[in-house]
Amino acid sequence: MTRLPAHVVAERAARAAETVRRQPCPRCGADTLVARTADRVAAVDVRADSEPIDPAHPPAGRLLWCLVDREHTGARIRWRDQWHAQVCTHPILADHVCPPQPVQETLL
Ligand SMILES: [Zn+2]
Ligand SMILES: [Zn+2]
Repeated sequence: MTRLPAHVVAERAARAAETVRRQPCPRCGADTLVARTADRVAAVDVRADSEPIDPAHPPAGRLLWCLVDREHTGARIRWRDQWHAQVCTHPILADHVCPPQPVQETLL
């Protein structure tokens, strides 16, 4: 069995973390998409609602991300900055925010 060089293992791990995956939110169980941004300088782990939002009516106070589909690497999430937003044609995801706690839990 041959061992892969450390930099290859690291590169593969980074790519796996950047691949967009569908996972339920651990707190509220909502259907969400998770991925690490492909930004090498300040990569962030993103959890976004799985339904793209309407860019003409973005939800207030939420971070917005582009769902970028690349032919060879699969879907990636990228930061939707104001310059990119002007030319953007990607589906847009909003950062997931858990809904308020169910009333029953406050009674305990
Ligand atoms: Zn975009
Ligand atoms: Zn949640």
